[in-house]
Amino acid sequence: MATETRTPFEEQRSARPQVRPRTEGWTQAQDTEGRPLLQFASPKRGKPPVHLADLTVEERVEKVKELGLPGFRAKQLSTHYFTHYTSDPAAMTDLPAAQREELVAGMLPPLLTETRRLATDKGDTIKFLWKLHDGALVESVLMRYPGRITLCVSSQAGCGMNCPFCATGQAGLTRNMSTAEIIEQIVRANAAIAAGELGGDPRKGGQDRVDAERVTNIVFMGMGEPLANYKRVVEAVRTMVAPQPHGLGMSARGITVSTVGLVPAIKKLADENLPITFALSLHAPDDELRDELIPVNSRWKADEAIDAAYEYYAKTGRRVSIEYALIKDMNDHAWRADLLAEKLNARGKGWVHVNPIPLNPTPGSVWTSSEPHVQDEFVRRLNAAGVPTTLRDTRGKEIDGACGQLAAADETDV
Ligand code: SAH
Repeated sequence: MATETRTPFEEQRSARPQVRPRTEGWTQAQDTEGRPLLQFASPKRGKPPVHLADLTVEERVEKVKELGLPGFRAKQLSTHYFTHYTSDPAAMTDLPAAQREELVAGMLPPLLTETRRLATDKGDTIKFLWKLHDGALVESVLMRYPGRITLCVSSQAGCGMNCPFCATGQAGLTRNMSTAEIIEQIVRANAAIAAGELGGDPRKGGQDRVDAERVTNIVFMGMGEPLANYKRVVEAVRTMVAPQPHGLGMSARGITVSTVGLVPAIKKLADENLPITFALSLHAPDDELRDELIPVNSRWKADEAIDAAYEYYAKTGRRVSIEYALIKDMNDHAWRADLLAEKLNARGKGWVHVNPIPLNPTPGSVWTSSEPHVQDEFVRRLNAAGVPTTLRDTRGKEIDGACGQLAAADETDV
């Protein structure tokens, strides 16, 4: 009798092993009410110095005046910073020599000290380790692809979302990054590119030339949960897309914000009128597993997160991405691919793209990536159900620079 009432999903559930974070020795830290511990608020620490990139155009002019110079100097400083990628007073010969040092110290204070740089063999992937003013460490990863250059940026030092398969999640949240600290990662990467430090052949991929040698795409997939640092992340995006010289003049379409699923913040983002790409880190279509895999699921369930992603599409017309790290015997079952397809199709067609990525094992983790034929079957099922799905290529594994591997260990730990 029991078998007769089983659904096809349950039938298949029993056929493959089901690994779970808890049975593998992962213990979920809890708050005083017994709910999974999540850090939404940034711990109080000394604030980073205020920088030109933290200010509106008007505020920049005001601040320059406060420093005793005419307001038009603000535009010159912005040009140096956003188009020449420099904060070096010696390079700013159009500024009065006598006040240059003081002006630059007041407007472009140092934010990131490069403490280590790792590159792949061909040099087309570089991981930067940055030390912030208070000693907190963050990383960014710069990748050349045919016809585009992508920078994976951090939005927080550490992360409070506690996902068991992510190296950053294990470290807890140190603090939110400021708008300028987020922007400075791009400016420094652009400076490295301009200096010819990013390897790889710009002409590969059948292009005669790469459209200006600078970062063209941004993914908020470094350290941190961008929507837990909402205000600064949105301000940073606005500065990325603001035309030069007041911002970096980037295309919003090349910017991707990725989240564990902070539903109220997703709704807010949809109303910002920014045509950026939205990505939801789903990793499991069922709450039973997602509760363990993505602890924030204790606040907003898988269906609520998918609804919010759909709403983002409905409001902006921008197709959203679903991220799905394929973990062996954990979330890679065929029935989960079917359930995911069913849930996405139930909301409509053509609104979503699924990006599975084989798990990058993190140090000390017992989980591994799914086997290639399992990955292929997962992708095949989604595509067969009419959900466009492509396996994501992972870059920078050999330098611990791939998704989920950013732990910002200092040289002393190596
Ligand atoms: N906090 C945001 C962005 C940071 S991580 C978020 O969770 O979306 C960027 C992506 O890498 C997320 O989809 C995240 O789930 C994924 N990721 C984390 N650890 C990973 C790992 N070990 N292997 C593969 N992907 C991983």
